[in-house]
Amino acid sequence: MPLSQQPAVFLDRDGTIIADVHYLAEPSQIQLIPGAAAAIRRLNQAGFRVIVVTNQAGVALGRFSEDKIDAVHERLSALLAESRAIVDGYFFCPHHPQGIVEPYAQVCRCRKPEPGMLLTAAQEQNLDLERSWMIGDKVSDLAAGAAVGCQTILVRTGHGSAVTEPLSPALYRLAGIAADLGQAVDLGPCRQRESNTESPPL
Ligand SMILES: [Mg+2]
Ligand SMILES: [Zn+2]
Repeated sequence: MPLSQQPAVFLDRDGTIIADVHYLAEPSQIQLIPGAAAAIRRLNQAGFRVIVVTNQAGVALGRFSEDKIDAVHERLSALLAESRAIVDGYFFCPHHPQGIVEPYAQVCRCRKPEPGMLLTAAQEQNLDLERSWMIGDKVSDLAAGAAVGCQTILVRTGHGSAVTEPLSPALYRLAGIAADLGQAVDLGPCRQRESNTESPPL
C-alpha cells in the first residue's frame, strides 16, 4: 500500500524567506525577513512539508559554485532551527539560457516559471500537489506553482513590492496577496486547515 501523500508549501527563498541580496553567495549575507522563521514553524506544526525552490542562475553566470549554495542553505537551516523551524528540502536551479559556465548554460525545465523543481520534489517526497501551496515574491513563482495545481500567494517583500500588474486569480491559482510570509501562511495554508471549523474560505 502506498504511503499517503503529504501536502507541501513551496517557498521561494530570496525576497520571501531572506532578504534579496543580488547573487547572494556567502552564508554571512543571510538576513531572515522578520516573521519568516515563525511562519515556517507554523507550517511545520500544521503538517505541511516545507520545500524551498530557488532559481540560482549565479552558477550558470559564473558568480558562484553550487558548493556555495549548499553552504548558504546549511546556514539558513541553522538560523531557522533557532526558532525550531524546519525546511524539509532545498531545490535549486543553477541554469540560465545565457549562462557562461558549462553545463549550466541551457534552457531547462527547472528555472521558474517552469515547474521542474516542484515536480522533482513531489516525486522524491511523495507530495500531493493539489493540496499544496507556492508562496513567492515574483510572478514567476506563482506561475510555477499554478502549473502543477498548487494554490499560490504573492508576498510584498523582496520584488513583490514592485509587482503592479493585475494578476489573474484563475491564471495563477492566486489565493491572495500578503504583506510577508507570516501573513501569507495565515491567509493561506494555515487558514485553510481551520476552514472546516470557523474561518470562511479565502
Ligand atoms: Mg524571490
Ligand atoms: Zn534549471
